[in-house]
Amino acid sequence: KKSVLLEGDQMIANGNVDVGKVQPSHQLDKLREERKTLPIYTFRERLLQDVEKNQVLIIVGETGSGKTTQIPQYLHEAGYTKGGKKIGCTQPRRIAAMSVAARVSQEMGVKLGHAVGYSIRFEDCTSEKTVLKYMTDGMLLREFLVEPDLASYSVVMVDEAHERTLSTDVLLGLLKDIARYRPDLKLIISSATLDAEKFSDFFDSAKILRIPGRRYPVDIHYMEAPQADYLDAAIVAALQVHVTQPPGDILFFLTGQEEIETAEEIFKHRTRGLGTKISELIICPIYANLPTELQAKIFEPTPEGARKVVLATNIAETSLTIDGIKYVIDPGFSKMKSYNPRSGMESLQVTPISKASSMQRAGRAGRTGHGKCFRLYTSYNYDSDLDDTTVPEVQRTNLANVVLTLKSLGIHDLVNFEFMDPPPCEALLKALELLFALGALNKVGELTKVGRRMAEFPVDPMLSKMIVASDKYKCSDEVISIAAMLSTGSSIFYRPKDKQVHADTARLRFHSGNVGDHIALLKVYNAWKEANYSTQWCYENYIQVRSMKRARDIRDQLERLLERVEIKLSSSNDLEAIKKAVTSGFFPHCVRLQKNGSYRTIKHPHTAHIHPSSGIMALEHHLLPRCVLYHELVLTTKEYMRQVTEIKPEWLVEIAPHYYQLNGVVEEDYSNSKKMPRGKGRTSTSKQIPNLVDYSICV
Ligand code: ADP
Ligand code: MG
Repeated sequence: KKSVLLEGDQMIANGNVDVGKVQPSHQLDKLREERKTLPIYTFRERLLQDVEKNQVLIIVGETGSGKTTQIPQYLHEAGYTKGGKKIGCTQPRRIAAMSVAARVSQEMGVKLGHAVGYSIRFEDCTSEKTVLKYMTDGMLLREFLVEPDLASYSVVMVDEAHERTLSTDVLLGLLKDIARYRPDLKLIISSATLDAEKFSDFFDSAKILRIPGRRYPVDIHYMEAPQADYLDAAIVAALQVHVTQPPGDILFFLTGQEEIETAEEIFKHRTRGLGTKISELIICPIYANLPTELQAKIFEPTPEGARKVVLATNIAETSLTIDGIKYVIDPGFSKMKSYNPRSGMESLQVTPISKASSMQRAGRAGRTGHGKCFRLYTSYNYDSDLDDTTVPEVQRTNLANVVLTLKSLGIHDLVNFEFMDPPPCEALLKALELLFALGALNKVGELTKVGRRMAEFPVDPMLSKMIVASDKYKCSDEVISIAAMLSTGSSIFYRPKDKQVHADTARLRFHSGNVGDHIALLKVYNAWKEANYSTQWCYENYIQVRSMKRARDIRDQLERLLERVEIKLSSSNDLEAIKKAVTSGFFPHCVRLQKNGSYRTIKHPHTAHIHPSSGIMALEHHLLPRCVLYHELVLTTKEYMRQVTEIKPEWLVEIAPHYYQLNGVVEEDYSNSKKMPRGKGRTSTSKQIPNLVDYSICV
């Protein structure tokens, strides 16, 4: 076992992590041979001809046929990067961009970040020498801001177009537009599913090239009855496969990092009891924030006699191909954003997948041989409950960020922007309304100076507004730390199951003085900085080291961007000033307390609860603040607000008078409340309590 582990570490060192090393020549030869076995290889010449003859080419091919790793290399070999022109390849997911770039740099025998690089939000691993650039679709969108005609690119490949992310859809519209006056620019749209006609129609009947994949049959097994706990059912199914089925790795689809980590723990716990009665199970998690050094692990060949279980999010549906998978376990869910354009509320929720997704998932089992897929739902569920396809993101998300980007590109006529599937008009209006409220657009919808500054930051408009507003409150230093802590994408606090009490005590120390979650995050960051960014300090305080490191990277970038928009780094220890800066961005996310202890949005009748992880939840129920703002909503068993801070209602009128108007109306929720002491000298039953004023919209 030991030698296997060592070999593994060696592979990691040669692969993703140590970008300084390139492959020894015998490994290069091996990779070269492997490249020739991919289904796309026999289409190399045809593909190059098609690209030469057509400005736009649609490519359809099964996942794993070699589209992402090979096409950019073929084009590079054919001379499309002469004169330093770049080939860009977009991916909807950051981890796919990183992983694929690492693989291609290995295949080409070059250092990652040199000829082959990747660019994802807050992380640029490219250099002047980079000619094959893998990036997230969102990053290419941002490049339009700097280079509106993408002059440095000879080819742009929009990969995984079937995912139809918001950024991909906007890119398709922009690329179609610039292709008209850049006849030398080649566009490749690649998709893993068969709906190529739609892409072709969008690009004026562009040519379609189909790469037939090798596909073996996959037996589909359904549950006889619906499962109450799909995580448990999935683990039982996996262990059953392990004990009863012939060799072959297992791929598991879960909805996110937390669920994957829980599953990992349960697996370890259950297999520990079995000891040597079963052969070795190697658990490999993969999700967006998985640290780079662990990413290579999922691609390592499984040692003889062992079985690999890959615990993945949607990422393994089409973005990444892991060789050797024979069994797929599909609980039938994924985490999706949903948006209600009427209320402007957006939340993440675990949602049933579509039939198209479940077919893709099952297909992962049949790449190298006859496979099996276990669906943890009934065939009746499949037929009657799953939608045929997933609704494109543009139709179920908040568009404020995209609208701000398009406005910055000088595109004013959003209604006539060419979307493959247009967003609901209501959602566009809502986005304009929000940007106007934030001061990014003026009354006639033109970008303001504030808006131009906001657009420089690769974060959502409310967050960028908070940063820009920190200038006024002279606390940009603190506010970018908070913004960075809010942008890590993973939790800051570590709460292992067996040490929850200790972890909670440690966490609440940062909340002393009842400062609210935003300030608590700032305190964590500052304390870590004070401790010289020490890892030991993180362990002692139940803080996730990785999240902190990421926060520091993000913060560094935000600091550089501040300079670009000419905002001085200024520091303040006035907590009220800092909270006001936060409020300047997040005033649309203000809610007030109701009698039953839940909160209701001020502008719309929408009820939400403070997430149990919030420091505010440590307060006695009767001390709950009357008015708070939140960072985001997540829907689990209830609609929860995450990252919550108390604010003073007066601030709303001061900061956003155009949004909240002081009516002075007595707020009935409190008029007869016995539970709301209002500070010294007042009895809690008093009827003359100065009540929370009612705010109504005035836009
Ligand atoms: P497609 O884009 O058509 O789905 P890819 O080009 O991603 O196909 O994959 C082609 C082959 O390269 C697959 O066999 C896959 O397993 C392998 N591959 C891709 N990325 C990596 C990686 N990071 N490490 C090891 N193998 C990889
Ligand atoms: Mg691919």
